[in-house]
Amino acid sequence: MMVLLYIAITLLTFVCMEAVTWLTHRFVMHGFMWYFHEDHHQPKYQNTFERNDIFFVIFAIPSILLFYFGVDGGVNYLFFIGLGVLLYGISYFLVHDVLIHQRFKWFKKTKNKYLIGLRKAHKVHHKHLGKEDGECFGMLFVPFKYFKI
Ligand SMILES: [Zn+2]
Ligand SMILES: [Zn+2]
Ligand SMILES: [Zn+2]
Repeated sequence: MMVLLYIAITLLTFVCMEAVTWLTHRFVMHGFMWYFHEDHHQPKYQNTFERNDIFFVIFAIPSILLFYFGVDGGVNYLFFIGLGVLLYGISYFLVHDVLIHQRFKWFKKTKNKYLIGLRKAHKVHHKHLGKEDGECFGMLFVPFKYFKI
């Protein structure tokens, strides 16, 4: 039964990470760490790396710590929280950096309604070039209206 519990912990962490991301994006990235997020809101930003990428490093730290303590004396639940954070990070990268911002030219022509909806919502987020008055701060869960074509 431990396997089911571990799967549940991983999934729950994944879902919670969307909420953490929303809050971080809304209050930290568009808040006191706007300096790092600002270049990401510039249209046609062409450099390979953005200051905004610092957030991947920031989110990697808890994940690494969770893995480290999660294998301490046998695998424990912390490992699976770390796994949920890592899987969310990978999904975020694939959706936000690849699918939406095309940092790699993969699945460019997707017909998947969910993915198209996510892309639309994030484009709306990018309509705002400034720190204030943002919308659509989420990444994998966005208002349902974006899924209607
Ligand atoms: Zn933003
Ligand atoms: Zn973006
Ligand atoms: Zn914004």
